Amino acid sequence: MKFSVTVLGSSSALPTASRNLTAHLLNAYERFFLIDCGEGTLRQLRRFKINISKINNLFISHLHGDHYFGIFGLLTTFSLLGRSKDFHIFAHEELHELINCQLKQEELSYNIVFHKLNKTENEIIYEDKKITVRSFPLKHRIASNGFLFKEKLGDRNIKKELIPYYNLSVKDIVSIKKGNDFIDNEGNIISNEHLTKKPHKQRSYAFCSDTVFYPPIIDIIKDVDLLYHESTFAEDMKERAKKTLHSTAKDAAEIAKRANAKGLLIGHFSTRYRNLDILQKEAAEVFPNVSLAVDGNTYEIKAWS
Ligand SMILES: [Zn+2]
Repeated sequence: MKFSVTVLGSSSALPTASRNLTAHLLNAYERFFLIDCGEGTLRQLRRFKINISKINNLFISHLHGDHYFGIFGLLTTFSLLGRSKDFHIFAHEELHELINCQLKQEELSYNIVFHKLNKTENEIIYEDKKITVRSFPLKHRIASNGFLFKEKLGDRNIKKELIPYYNLSVKDIVSIKKGNDFIDNEGNIISNEHLTKKPHKQRSYAFCSDTVFYPPIIDIIKDVDLLYHESTFAEDMKERAKKTLHSTAKDAAEIAKRANAKGLLIGHFSTRYRNLDILQKEAAEVFPNVSLAVDGNTYEIKAWS
C-alpha cells in the first residue's frame, strides 16, 4: 500500500533555478494530501505529472508567503478543470478571510471547506478509514503548525492457506478479520489468533516547518518513520537561525535523534547554500539516516521494523 511523500519545493523565502518554495505531497493509498503551497506549486504539480484532481485536502503550516502564495492559482485551476468535489483547507483562520477576499470575483465550481487550526494545542484534525492527521504548534515568528500523518492500525490478516482448510465463506472471512473466532460445522471453536496474522506496522510522516529548535514537539512525533524538519541554515548561521526562529541542519538532526525517528528529510534551504553538502554533513554527524529534500523526488515511508 502506497505511503510516500513527494517534495515539490525545497527552498526557503525565494525560489532558485532548481528549488521551488515549500510544498509536499503525501500519497496515502493514491489519495493525495498537499502540505503547504508556496508560489509555483501548481506548476510543480504539472511538471511532476501529478493528477491534481486527486488532491482533496490542503494543510498550510503558517501564513508566511513562501508557504501559501500558490493557493489562489490552485483554487481557480480546480474550477477551470470543472472540479465538483469539496476541497478541504486546514489553516490558521486569517487565511479564510484572505481566500474570501481574493476569490470574491470568482465563481468556483466546487465548495471550499475551511478548517481552523488550533494555534496552541495539539489535536487530531483529520480522520478517515486509513489515516489520522494531528496538528501541533511549532515555534516561529508567527503561529506555525506541524502535522503528523499516521496510518491507522489495519485489520488482522487472515492466513490464506486456512481459507480452503476450514472452507471459509466471504462472510466468515469478514468476521474473522474483525477479530472474531470461527465455529466450524461440528461446533469446534477455532481461535482468531490461530486464523490470523498481525496487521502491518503503522507508518507515519511528520512535517515540521517553519520552526526554531523546539523540543516540545519530540513527544508528539516520537518514533515517527519519516520526519521532515526544516533546515534553513548550517551551523555557520546559527545565530541567524535563532534570531529568525528557523533551524539549522544540526537542530533538525537533534530533534530526529531525540524523537527516535527512523529517517530524517531536511529542506527549506536558504538560497545562500548552492551546494547542500555542508547541511547534510552537519545533520549526519548527529543523525546518520538523513536525506536532502530534492524537488521532484519521492521518498517512500517505511515502518520501523
Ligand atoms: Zn516562515
